[in-house]
Amino acid sequence: MKTIGLLGGMSWESTVGYYQVMNEEVNARLGGLHSAKIIMHSVDFEPLRQQMLDCDWDTIGEHLAGVARILEQGGADMIVIGTNTMHKVAPQIQAAVSVPVIHIVDATGEEARRAGFLKVGLLGTIFTMEDGFYADRLREQGVDVVVPSAEDRKIVDWVVFNELCKGVLNGDSRSEYLRIIEDMVEHGAQAVILGCTEIGLLVRPGDTAVPMLDTCRIHALKAVDIALT
Ligand code: GLU
Repeated sequence: MKTIGLLGGMSWESTVGYYQVMNEEVNARLGGLHSAKIIMHSVDFEPLRQQMLDCDWDTIGEHLAGVARILEQGGADMIVIGTNTMHKVAPQIQAAVSVPVIHIVDATGEEARRAGFLKVGLLGTIFTMEDGFYADRLREQGVDVVVPSAEDRKIVDWVVFNELCKGVLNGDSRSEYLRIIEDMVEHGAQAVILGCTEIGLLVRPGDTAVPMLDTCRIHALKAVDIALT
């Protein structure tokens, strides 16, 4: 079994999910007392959040590249960046290590295509919904993307940083998310990407008329696939 290098803490609420899914999946596949081989480095998110607000992506990229190097030196066979948004600096992180970075958008696009979804809704932070690094990469894989209106994108982003990353699950916010998902379905989305690793804590399977692609789960399962091959 290969060792997964998990870059966590963004936020730690979702890193818990990665850790749980990876261990459960390894155990489901291998049985007995088998569990995932994981090295985790969990960052302090607050300074990184400030740098995001300042759009200082170079500093964020340098910081996370340094963490990825520590994981590689510690014996990680691959790097899993446990957040969608920080994949904005995935090229910088990949350039700093010789082991592969398992890209969350590729894992999610693969899952969308496997399920036959050619047009999907995308929920996430402002950066994920608006910057090309996410939707363009999906479109390159043949998956078209619908995003919420500008006003709704602000709501989705606000809930991520002011509630979900702090472990707050609010019923009104869930209703807003469900309304926004319905709107994307009306615009042709066949499924919705929960493109922020905490959203699966708020919106659960069965809450919506269309299937949801939970990136935290999909990404963690992809890493296990690679670890076991
Ligand atoms: N975990 C979130 C994501 O998947 C947001 C936190 C971040 O900005 O890294 O994008």
